[in-house]
Amino acid sequence: MIVPSHARAVIIGGGVVGCSIAYHLGKLGWRDVVLLERKQLTCGTTWHAAGLIAQLRATQNMTRLAKYSQELYFGLEAETGVATGFKRNGSITVALTDERMEELRRSAAMARAFGVEIDEISPSDIASRYPGLSVDDAVGGVWLPKDGQADPVNITQALAKVHVIMAWPSIRVQKSLALLKTLAVSPV
Ligand SMILES: Cc1cc2nc3c(=O)[nH]c(=O)nc-3n(C[C@H](O)[C@H](O)[C@H](O)COP(=O)(O)OP(=O)(O)OC[C@H]3O[C@@H](n4cnc5c(N)ncnc54)[C@H](O)[C@@H]3O)c2cc1C
Repeated sequence: MIVPSHARAVIIGGGVVGCSIAYHLGKLGWRDVVLLERKQLTCGTTWHAAGLIAQLRATQNMTRLAKYSQELYFGLEAETGVATGFKRNGSITVALTDERMEELRRSAAMARAFGVEIDEISPSDIASRYPGLSVDDAVGGVWLPKDGQADPVNITQALAKVHVIMAWPSIRVQKSLALLKTLAVSPV
């Protein structure tokens, strides 16, 4: 392994966040970016994430970010050739009280302002979309058709792959705590 003597950016950690930063820096044209992973890519929290892709969030910026992630992940398999397991099967959030329904309506209004597709649905709509769910005590809910699920490990591998072997070959994913220590004391 060739230890670089300097780098424009050093990313520590090869989970989804580190690989996503490398991916986006590469898209911005950054070269000489090094990602350091002490063990192997995706070995941390990313490895056991549930894999839900949901866009409805409590704040404007989190909603914008979640919408962007959903769109990015949807196209990642075609871009990289790595099977990400992304399925746009939609999501339902159910309200059991009027107050919770009001909160969902407010969130839905905010989501729409950012172009997130979202529909208010009735208890019978919920039952028809998810047969078997008891909706006796449901007040209503919201349906997001573009939500879904994906494999977090392969999403991360796909983000890393783009820069390692394709358009931005100068972004190297390296795996060594010793390398991290070497770089940390090197002039940048
Ligand atoms: C597709 C997808 C779906 C998700 N779905 C859900 C969900 O449904 N619900 C939910 O709650 N969350 C979900 N998440 C989020 C997930 O649970 C975690 O929050 C996320 O994966 C954390 O990523 P991370 O890169 O911050 O951390 P990590 O995956 O833990 O990555 C950190 C990395 O840093 C490395 N590292 C640490 N210290 C050092 C060091 N000193 N030197 C070198 N390397 C070091 C570790 O080895 C590790 O690989 C999802 C994530 C994805 C990608």
